[in-house]
Parts: sequence; structure tokens; C-alpha cells
Amino acid sequence: MSRIHLILLLFWALLARSVLAADPQVVLTDREAAYVAAGKPVTMAAMYDFVPFSFIDKGELHGFVPELVELIEQKTGLDIKLGTGEWSNNLRMLEERQIDAISDISFKPERTPFTLYTTPYFEIPTVVFTRKEFGDYNGLSDLSGKRVGVLRNIFYLRELRTQADLDIREYEDYATLISALAYGEIDAAIQNLTSGYHYASTNAYTNIKVAGEFQLRNVGREDLRFGVQPEQPLLQSIIQKGMDAITADEWETLIDRWMGRASMGFIRKARTVALTPSEREFVKQNPVIRVHNESNFEPYNFFENGRPRGHSVDLIQLLADKVGLEVNMVSGLSWDEYLQMMRDGRLDVMMNIVYSEERDTYLDFTRPYVRQVQALYRRDSTPAIASFDELKKKTLVLPDGFYMYDRLSSQPGMKVIPSTDSLDSLLKVSTGTADATIELMTVADHLSQKYGVPGLISQSTLNIDGGDPLSLRIAVREDQPQLRDILQRAMDSLTEEEKRGLQQKWLSSAASPASYVHLRGEELEWLESRTAVKVCVRRDNLPLEHIGEDGKKIGAFADLLEILRNNSGISFRIEAADSYKQALAALESRRCDLVATSPLLQEREDLSFTQPLFTSPLVVATGPDEVFFSDLEQLKGRTLGLVEGGEVQQFLHDLGSGVGLRGYESLEAALTALNKGEIYGVVDSLPVLGRELSRRVYGELKISGQLDSRYALRMAMRADDVILNRIMNKTLASVSDEQRETIATRWLQIGSLKESTDYRLLAQTSFGAALLLGVILVWNRKLARLNNRIRESNDQLQQAHEELKVKNRMLEQLSVTDRLTRLKNRLFIEQLFERQVEESKKGGPGFAVLLLDIDHFKEVNDRFGHDVGDQLLTDFAAVLTGGCRHQDSIARWGGEEFMVICPGTSLSDAEQLALRLADDVRAHAFPVAGVCTVSIGVAAWRPGDTQKSISLRADHALYRAKDLGRDRVCVEH
Ligand code: GH3
Ligand code: MG
Ligand code: MG
Repeated sequence: MSRIHLILLLFWALLARSVLAADPQVVLTDREAAYVAAGKPVTMAAMYDFVPFSFIDKGELHGFVPELVELIEQKTGLDIKLGTGEWSNNLRMLEERQIDAISDISFKPERTPFTLYTTPYFEIPTVVFTRKEFGDYNGLSDLSGKRVGVLRNIFYLRELRTQADLDIREYEDYATLISALAYGEIDAAIQNLTSGYHYASTNAYTNIKVAGEFQLRNVGREDLRFGVQPEQPLLQSIIQKGMDAITADEWETLIDRWMGRASMGFIRKARTVALTPSEREFVKQNPVIRVHNESNFEPYNFFENGRPRGHSVDLIQLLADKVGLEVNMVSGLSWDEYLQMMRDGRLDVMMNIVYSEERDTYLDFTRPYVRQVQALYRRDSTPAIASFDELKKKTLVLPDGFYMYDRLSSQPGMKVIPSTDSLDSLLKVSTGTADATIELMTVADHLSQKYGVPGLISQSTLNIDGGDPLSLRIAVREDQPQLRDILQRAMDSLTEEEKRGLQQKWLSSAASPASYVHLRGEELEWLESRTAVKVCVRRDNLPLEHIGEDGKKIGAFADLLEILRNNSGISFRIEAADSYKQALAALESRRCDLVATSPLLQEREDLSFTQPLFTSPLVVATGPDEVFFSDLEQLKGRTLGLVEGGEVQQFLHDLGSGVGLRGYESLEAALTALNKGEIYGVVDSLPVLGRELSRRVYGELKISGQLDSRYALRMAMRADDVILNRIMNKTLASVSDEQRETIATRWLQIGSLKESTDYRLLAQTSFGAALLLGVILVWNRKLARLNNRIRESNDQLQQAHEELKVKNRMLEQLSVTDRLTRLKNRLFIEQLFERQVEESKKGGPGFAVLLLDIDHFKEVNDRFGHDVGDQLLTDFAAVLTGGCRHQDSIARWGGEEFMVICPGTSLSDAEQLALRLADDVRAHAFPVAGVCTVSIGVAAWRPGDTQKSISLRADHALYRAKDLGRDRVCVEH
């Protein structure tokens, strides 16, 4: 690695550290700070017997709460005196204002008159404890027929009895309940996590475990918070800020210490979001939000193997968790239908939606959470579409109701046909039904890889109206503005780590996992407020930057810009400048926002700079007879030539040591003057000077020394563009080492300077110095050729590798996917079937099978043709997918027969599912054919079964359903 790479690397490493090490700090308002500074101790009451939160042991207070309080003291500077007492007494003291605050209080409306709550620091779940050998608990059916212990008269007992065939046993207290489990009297014990864990660990019952969270209507989690006197809102907000400043690591250590690592998986993020009272009320009134889920909008929003997946799906789940909402995904419909549901009030939230004025009339939007570039996709055999007018001669396909559809279909002269979704668009282009589509690049890439859409090529949307990068937001209905505020609050509270996790899981390509830029709301808003960031690029400053006659930009900076654009979705518009000075003037007059390359100018206070893009030495070329120099003293009384108005001139404007500077209109002119002996030397950065020397014959010139070894080039902008500065620095941080290295080898190769000691020794004589220049020139050329060859073969290898990867993924997908319905095919489901049989033989929870056959399907073909038949099959598949539960697997068994495998499902539950599916099908309005019904046969695993015996029973059941008149469900016992 050359020195420049090393410097760059060191620099990037430092930058990365300083970004990551940003510690959350408590920022107090003046009044809060004054409260703390007054130093009056805060009196807070905790319970003396609430293991493991606060309890007295051997005369001392221990537990989760005292340690949490200590952390809050450290973060805020508060002095909290923790006293202990019995719960009801503590509560009364708070009510009578004898203490300032209390711990371990749950939110109850009747306590509001005397309590200001913080957000919960813990939520205790109710869980199912079992012995170690028991499998996972996923729902009540897992306890079917089992002996289950609960506390006597627990409030959910009645409902529990109606829910499943459990053998319920009641116990007096938690201690006996948990020992009954340990000694095998019962198979499972339902109780709260912390008490169960406490008794299990104090009695060393090592044979029991937490099998899963127990969920039943009414059984929520018990929330533990701090409560503060209502007269002291300042104290409440200081404590809250202290809690908010506790890092993920610190929470984890606390929880691990007092609750045990085993419980970790059941603990919802302790860092929930503080809502206003009216927002809290909204959550209470509307605990479940209905969220749209598309079929094919990967990687944001799609449906796979019977479950909603994608960035948007994880995001809304994360946000909902933070504010205590439940998410109900609504799958299987088209974008346009979802929009209609929003208008009708049947849906609450739409994800990954682009703002438009028309939508603003019935929707409320959050700030954007992601911004991505779009591209135009056409068949690779067709010529590029050069302008908007040319596009008008083509047939464009776009998903019905999508932002781009609305935008372009209303344009006069545009021919736009609707598709059902993004995949459909790509397929229509691939098969020639349409000429082109416009799609987010991430989405098109994911879909065409996953489904192996052949023959597509992308081109930029630069000339297309609306082709700018799109910002995706969350939308809610206009009549639920609180929901927007709640979701925005949750979004604002996402940690960088949480955001990075989401981005990395879904959006970054495998090749450069760190390459995605995490821009915040106001940064995205800044970008949105203008069409593009205008960058001033020098017309002729190779190898750094160059704009050709044709407007094409090349050079190290152009490569870098391309990477920045891909990583961040920022669109840049290039403004040409003849000199650095002119570029600075353009910045001042707001003709541009950024200057491509600039040295750090300390004296210019109206400018701000990014971190360095390139670092290289500033060197001096001289005639062949000059002796090598290493310090400025040796240049006293001499004159150096340089480019007039260039960044080097601005940087060196006063060397101060008696060295003269003379400006020339170009580097070529300066070197020519040097050649004629008019000046002593010419100064510029090594890559620029080195390139010019190797390009033209200037007689016998050589590089004799350097002025500054760490001359660094950055982007410059107006000092008041603070947000742009943040955006650019973040974006630069996203460039990987590998990408930087590629640019450096391509444009800035100065490998010959790496042995600086030899270089000095050699340069002691003029002969050595002359040789050195020769060495530099020869090396540059050799290196260039070598680098080119390496790059080419690397590219080829890389390409072959990528192709293989894509092909393999396609094959994998295709081999188990049914082409028409995109459900799993028979091959896949038979394998799954066999696995279920094997697992059940080993004592697994069993499973059920549904065999479905569409009624009178031949008639559909006969009456409306095969195409309508095909469409019906596809729609039928979507209805099934929408009606099944996430654990079910659906496949096309053949023709118009389908199979659903339901793991861990009893015969009666499977029958319920089948009845629901038959209802769904009957209720669905199929295009053209209208109504359609289905007959379903149901069978479930019995000991001794094989795949064949179960299939046979399902088949019998199906035949019976047909015989009895179709449109019904039959069960084979
Ligand atoms: P029923 O099941 O109620 O007894 O009547 P049916 O008309 O559905 O019965 P049958 O199973 O005899 O007919 C199935 C028809 O489905 C026969 C075949 O032409 C048609 N079919 C099978 N695969 C496809 C396909 O991929 N596309 C289309 N359009 N038709 C298909
Ligand atoms: Mg059939
Ligand atoms: Mg049929």
C-alpha cells in the first residue's frame, strides 16, 4: 500500500471512530440545569420486597432500581435519596406529597392526578415456564392436553378455560407453582417472568426454562416506571432525560445482572418513546394499526413464504414496539386498492409512500426515512431513450396508482399502461408488452435477481420529469393526525444502530455492506427542498476533475461523485468553472452549492469544508540541474510558477519566506516558462504535476522537492450550509476503503514516491535527481499499464462471479417456485411435507394438510379462455396467501389444485382455517369470471402416518366435498 493510501486509511479510520463514539449526552434546559445546580436531594420511595427490582437483603437495598437510579444520577447530576417501604404506603406518601418520586409504578388512569409518569424502564411479560425438554411455546395449542399450572383465581382463568383443552391446576402462590413444575406435577406454569425467574434461581431449579411469552386478550405486560409529584414537571423531565441517555449496553448489563440472560429474548426494548397524554390516549383507544403489505416491492415491502417481509415491515414493527402499538399487516391487494382503503378508513398506515399534493388531500405524511434513486428499465436489445420526447413515443408501464404512474399518465402525449405491481412492470418490459418502466433501482435490482427477469438494462432518469430520487415516507389517514405524530416521534427516537441494522439487513448490497448513508429527517428534507445539489467542477484539472466538450465529466472526483450518488441517492448537477477562483465566486453567488476540490483555506471564514477527499504532496518541478531540496529556506529569493486562480495559488498565496509566486494561465504555460528558464520551478500537487509532465515533452524537467506533504483536497461550501456539510461528510464516510483504493489507483497513482529515503539519497547528486524523474515517468507508465491489466481481468472475474451468483440464485428460486402463481411448487411442498412427517415422528407437535381444488374450473377455461383461467389461478393464489397464517406454507399442487401445510396445527384448527379460506374465495370478486368456489379436504398427522397416508386422507376428504355438492370443507378423521 502506498503512503497516500495509508494516510487516507488512517484518516478514514479516525473519522469513523469519531462518528461512532458519539456518546449520548444529557442536554438540560436552563431551568432544568438550575434545578440540578440547586443540589436539593430528591426523595424517592422504592419497595423493600420487590425482587429483583428493589429488595432489602442483609440490611441493604439491592436490585435493578437502585442501580438504574445511580445511572440516572451520573447522567443528570441529580442527587436521589432512595428510601424503602411497603408499596401502598409509598403510594400514599406520593399522593400526600411527602416524597418527590416513587419507583415501580404502573400506568393507571386513576393515578394521574398525583403522578407524572416517565416512560417504562421495564415491562414484565407473562410467560410459560416448562421443563427443559419441552419444545418452544408458540401458542395455546402447544399446551393442548397438558397439565398447566396457574395462580388460584387469576383474572384470565375463565378465558383460558374456554380457549383450549388444557388440564388446568391452580396453586396458592408463585413459589409452589414453580416447584410443582420443577418436580413434574405439571407440564407448564404460567406466571410473570420476574417472579418465576426469581423462585427458580433461588431454589436452583435448573431443569426449567422459559418456553415463550404467554399472550391472551387482557394479559398485557406490567409496565414499571418512575412517578413524580405533578407539581414537579422539571424533575420528571430530568429523570426522563437521564433514562433516555442510558446506552443500549448499559441497559443490557442491568437486565443481564438482575433478570438473567435467559429472559433477554422476552424483554421488549426498555427504551420506549415518551408520548403526550393525548397520544397515549390514542394508543389506548386504537391499540392495533392496520398496515399495507405489498406482494412485490422488494426489498421494502413484499410477501414471501406466507409472511410479510422487508425494510418497511421491520420498520413499522420497530416503531410500533416503541410506542406500544400492535401491527396488523394487510396483505394481497394492489397499491391502488390500498389507497382506496385509506380513503374509506379501512386501513391506517401506508409504508414507503411518496408525497404528492393529490395524496396530501386525504393523507398525512411523516418526514422521509429513506431516499433512493430511480432508473429507467428497457430491453437490452433496444436503443437508449435519449430524451423525454423520445420517451413519449414509447409505451411506458407503471404500477397502477404509484406516484410515477399518477405523475406521468397525466402528461399529455404519454402512453402509460398500468401494471399490478413492480414485478409485473419489469416482466411486461422483459416480454415486450411495454417498452420501458421507471423503478427505484433497489427494487428493480432485487426483483430481477430474485425472479430472474431476463434481458433488462437500466439507464438514468436524468431527463425525465419526476425521475429524481424518491423520498419514502409513512402516511396515515388525515382523520388520525395523532398517529402521524406518534410514528414521527418513534422514528425520531430510532438510534443510529437501529437504523443501520435495518439498512444493512435490507438495503445495502452484499458487496458493500457499509455503503449506505443514514441521512436524518432534516437532512432528507434539505435535499428534498431542491432538485439537485449543484457542484462546481473545473473544466480542466485532470486527473482530479475534467469536463469534456460533450459535457462528460471524468477524473477522480467524477468517480467519487458516482459512488456518492449511488450510496446516498443524492442527485448532483454539474456546473462548469474555468478556475478555482471562478468556482469560489459561483459558490458565493449561489450558482453552486459545492466546490468539487478545494484545499483548506484557514482565512476564509465564509467557507466550510468536508473531510479530505484526496491527500497528496505539493511538489516542485525544476530544471534538470537543480539540487533536491526539502525545506523552503533553500528557495529564498527564487520564483515559483503556478496556475493563476488555481487552488494551489489560493493555498500558497503568501509563503512568507521570501519565495516569489507567479501565476500562469495553465500548468502547461508555467512549465513552458520553466523550460525557458524564466522561473526557478513550478509548484502543484503531485498527481496534477506528474500527469502533465508525463503527457507532454518539456525538455528535461524533474521533480526536485516538496513543499507540503499533506496537501489535502476537500469539497468546499458556504459556511452557513450546515446541513449540507453534515450530509456530505456522512456521504463521504460511506465510501469503502476498496472504492477509495480503486479511484486512487485509477487516477492518482504515485506509487513511485513511496521509498522516500532512497529518493533523498539518490537526489544528493544532480545525476541522481535526473534519474529520479526518469524513474517517476517510467514507473508511472508501467504502473498505469499494469494497473489497467489488473483492473480489466479483475473486472472480468468479478463479472463472471456476479453472473454465477445471480444464475444460482435464479435456479434456486425457480426450482421451487411455480411460474404462474409464484407460489411454492410441488417439489418444494413435498420436501416440506416429508420434513414435517419426520419431525412429528420424533415427537414434534404434528401438523395438518389442506388439499384445495377449484370448483368447475374447466368451465372458466371453456367460457372465457385459457388466459382468464390463468389470471384466475393467480388471483386465487393471492387470496390464499392473504388468508393463511404466517406459519402456513402454500403450494400449487398441480393444475387448479393447491396444498397448504400447517405446522403445529390440530385437525379442528385446520378445519377453521379451511372454512375461512373457502369464505375468502367465495367473497372475492374475480375479474371476468366473477364468483368462484373451492372444495377443501383436511387431514392431520396421526402417529404411524406417512406422507402417502395423510395425502390419501386429504384426497378422500376432498372427494367427499365434491360429492356433497362442492364449495365446502370436509375433514377426514
Ligand atoms: P371440479 O374440480 O369442480 O370437479 O371441476 P373442474 O372443472 O375444476 O375439474 P377438472 O379437475 O377436471 O378440471 C381442471 C381443469 O383445469 C382442466 C385443465 O384444463 C385446467 N387447467 C389445469 N392447469 C391449468 C392452467 O395452468 N391454466 C389453465 N387456464 N387451466 C388449467
Ligand atoms: Mg382438479
Ligand atoms: Mg377442479
